Amino acid sequence: MTLDKLIKEFKKHFPSDENGAQVIARAFAFAKNAHKNQKRASGENYFSHIFETAYKLAMWRLDYQSIAAGLLHDTIEDCKISAESLKKEFGEEITFLVEGVTKLGALKYHEDDQGLESLRKMILAISKDLRVVFIKLADRLHNMKTLRYVPQQKQKRIAVETAEIYAPLAYRLGMQNVAGELEDLAFPYIYPDKHKWVTENVKETFEERMRYLKNVEPVVKNQLEKSGIKPLSLDYRAKRFYSLYKKLLRYDMNLENIYDLVALRLIVNTVEECYLTLGVIHQLWPPLPGRIKDYIALPKPNGYQSLHTTVFCVDDRPTEFQIRTVDMHEQAEHGAAAHWFYESKKGTSEYNEGKIAALDSKESIWIRQLKNWQSQFPGSKEFIEALKVDFFSDRIFVLTPKGRVIDMPVGATPIDFAYHIHSSVGDSCVGAKVNNKIVSLDAPLQSGDIVEVLTQKNKKPSEGWLALVKTHYAKKKIKASLKKASPIPKKTEYKITCEARIGLIKDLSAIISRNHIPVIKLETFLNEKYPFIKIVIDTENKEKAEMLMLKMKKINGVKEIGYKIVE
Ligand code: MN
Repeated sequence: MTLDKLIKEFKKHFPSDENGAQVIARAFAFAKNAHKNQKRASGENYFSHIFETAYKLAMWRLDYQSIAAGLLHDTIEDCKISAESLKKEFGEEITFLVEGVTKLGALKYHEDDQGLESLRKMILAISKDLRVVFIKLADRLHNMKTLRYVPQQKQKRIAVETAEIYAPLAYRLGMQNVAGELEDLAFPYIYPDKHKWVTENVKETFEERMRYLKNVEPVVKNQLEKSGIKPLSLDYRAKRFYSLYKKLLRYDMNLENIYDLVALRLIVNTVEECYLTLGVIHQLWPPLPGRIKDYIALPKPNGYQSLHTTVFCVDDRPTEFQIRTVDMHEQAEHGAAAHWFYESKKGTSEYNEGKIAALDSKESIWIRQLKNWQSQFPGSKEFIEALKVDFFSDRIFVLTPKGRVIDMPVGATPIDFAYHIHSSVGDSCVGAKVNNKIVSLDAPLQSGDIVEVLTQKNKKPSEGWLALVKTHYAKKKIKASLKKASPIPKKTEYKITCEARIGLIKDLSAIISRNHIPVIKLETFLNEKYPFIKIVIDTENKEKAEMLMLKMKKINGVKEIGYKIVE
């Protein structure tokens, strides 16, 4: 947990970045002080969590901004340090990353959530910068390692969130190692019985497989040497428990059918050597039909590249081999983080002198996939720009105080949000807090905002709101509510059959005005065969209307009088 250890890891990848090392040192001291009196649920100092998160980011070879933000990632949330003071101390970029992680922290998985896929996309949209996702993944990795100290009722929710949201996201970003680790950490909390079964049953088979492969290893090495190929490394890849469990479900829970429980992994120098190695192995042992996978020519959607084959190996036992180059291995280990590293090195002397191998210039498939998520992606952007754009140009994702995600169009206001929660919340909305600050009802919301609606009983929407909302739904609800709140006032219309007497109109209106009721309309039809007068007055009160009618009936010249309530 020392600064030296962290700086050493950083300098492995950025040996000449003194400025970066200094910023990391400052963030280290700042975070240590900020968390100094806090403990983890495990009883450890809170800073242990901060350190592990940052150290993981250094191992993933991320830049100093990410590592500093990793050190500071819980200061806003847990130490009530303001974004403004972080900005003063560490500048815009690092603060932006910390704020991004803080926003993601508010997001909670709910079982009844709309598609998991849209949740994963939302994480990217809120993050705006993939480094925010890397920090969140490092944070989550350590949280999962200490999950047993968290209250039991929370464990499962966090574990499911990890397996359903963060692991697939890591996988999507090409970080399959991280994805596998997250899944394995979540497995015992989600399916305790199945986890127990798998670990108990695999142990023996696993050890037996390892002994077997140890015998295979020299045979392969020997044959490769004869063909002039010297593998850079040859090791074993054990299948992860959770992915093994998922596979077992498809194979009648029969371990005998899982050929890649342990695979032999060969790392060679060039793509050419990959294919040559495959040929050598196939010459030694016949391949199982349908099990040769050329992920070099056809990479997986997340950018994974490798050759896989299963052969009838020593004693005719099906055995999987995986063959790849260093760069492919790098990509498989670090995924998008590896791209980040290479891109951040572009233009440096190390890069120009060829000390750092350039990855395939073709952008990996996952980046293209990210771009597809956003239909209006502008054509040819540089890689880093591509990571920083909004993935969804026309949607924002905001959160309720409980972490529920609400998907809205860009420009949506707190009023839209309130109606989205419930039309009664919209109708009684008097104000809103965004990220704990009171805002005006017309302030456009941003992705990641936590929105709390302030309501008041018996409040009604105002006509002006129609101009402030973006969603059709809110508009519709406001209109409906306005109509209900102020039904068109009703009036009383009299039809008075009478003689055409001079002064009759004056007498009628005198009675009405004595009762303090405004006359809205008065029409005379005195030239008709049966002359009559129409009077509309502003009341819908039946008793009043009746009373007036009786009074008017007594006026000289009035023959007949009737009334009706009209709109
Ligand atoms: Mn944290």
